[in-house]
Amino acid sequence: MIQIQHLEKKFGHLTVLKDVNIHIRRGEVISVIGPSGTGKSTLLRCMNLLELPTGGSIIVDGEELLSTGHVDASKLRRKMGMVFQSFNLFEHLSVLENVCIGPIKLLGMSKVEATRNAMRLLKMVGMAEKARSMPSELSGGQKQRAAIARCLSMNPEIILFDEPTSALDPTMVSEVLSVIRSLASQGMTMVIVTHEMSFARRVSSRVLYMDEGVIYEEGTPQQIFESPQREKTRVFVNSIRDFRYTVHSADYDFFALEAAFRNFCSKYFLSDAAVDNALKLAEILLQHIPFAYGEAKLIYRFAEKTGHLSLEMELPAAMESVFSEMGAEDYAAMRACCTSMTEQLAERDGQTCRLLRFSV
Ligand code: ADP
Ligand code: MG
Repeated sequence: MIQIQHLEKKFGHLTVLKDVNIHIRRGEVISVIGPSGTGKSTLLRCMNLLELPTGGSIIVDGEELLSTGHVDASKLRRKMGMVFQSFNLFEHLSVLENVCIGPIKLLGMSKVEATRNAMRLLKMVGMAEKARSMPSELSGGQKQRAAIARCLSMNPEIILFDEPTSALDPTMVSEVLSVIRSLASQGMTMVIVTHEMSFARRVSSRVLYMDEGVIYEEGTPQQIFESPQREKTRVFVNSIRDFRYTVHSADYDFFALEAAFRNFCSKYFLSDAAVDNALKLAEILLQHIPFAYGEAKLIYRFAEKTGHLSLEMELPAAMESVFSEMGAEDYAAMRACCTSMTEQLAERDGQTCRLLRFSV
């Protein structure tokens, strides 16, 4: 139904979408997940030409949209409905008028027919009772359901949802997700950008993980959530936040490392003691690294689910064991900063390295 090939979008010098390839078949429900700022909204906006891509092609029902130069964007948007995070209802129109206006103005539908159709859709999303209300009288969940009805009124072939529940009070998330789920069961083709992982897992036929300007990994919900193949996907779906820092020499700037790490930690509820211990650990270890063998990579990981903070240090495999080189005093100080530690040789990016692991 839609083929996206080598899609590229730059804003000035910033390349947001590098090379995005997606093939959407009719009836598919595709969830798009990924860290914020990776271009998920930009991708949806490019798909319905709210943003003009800077390269690549979008083929809808066999018709190439970008090569011709003069695309009929309004015709395209009739096929592709979009539901936004911020609802975008017309505040001066009632719920019913919001749902009628598109078909009357753009599809030439009579007022009677548009109203009948709108009432059917409002009933479907549980909003028939609120047809005469103004948007300002509605809760967030009700606004979003009205926005979905408005989108459906144009009889789209596909609906693009851009984080439809992220502006909602937590108590209202499920009423909107239920509506989207019922659309899925009716066979509506949908692309849903969402942070609701359990929803994405249940509702979608395919999950795309976006990162680095590309579809970094894709698969069935089971593949992506239970056995992701690539490191970044794994980190994301396990809600593990990581902080990476590379140290090139013994003369590294400890204060810069400390400042960057504290900034990372400030986003989470970590105890001061844990943050101090994590830094102390790095400081002690880095005194014992012979940088002649190569650099040291630090990876702090914080698991939001468990509150667990860990430190991994990747060192050149050729290096001697760090622990055996350490004096008794430093060893004791290091032990005092962590609850467990291991040292092993491991594969990273196709290379063997010496890997130290600590739980803080
Ligand atoms: P996501 O939806 O995954 O959080 P976005 O698509 O909103 O990401 O944004 C991706 C990147 O593109 C961000 O760095 C953002 O600042 C940038 N960006 C988005 N829209 C514009 C724009 N109109 N002009 C300049 N930069 C933009
Ligand atoms: Mg976004």
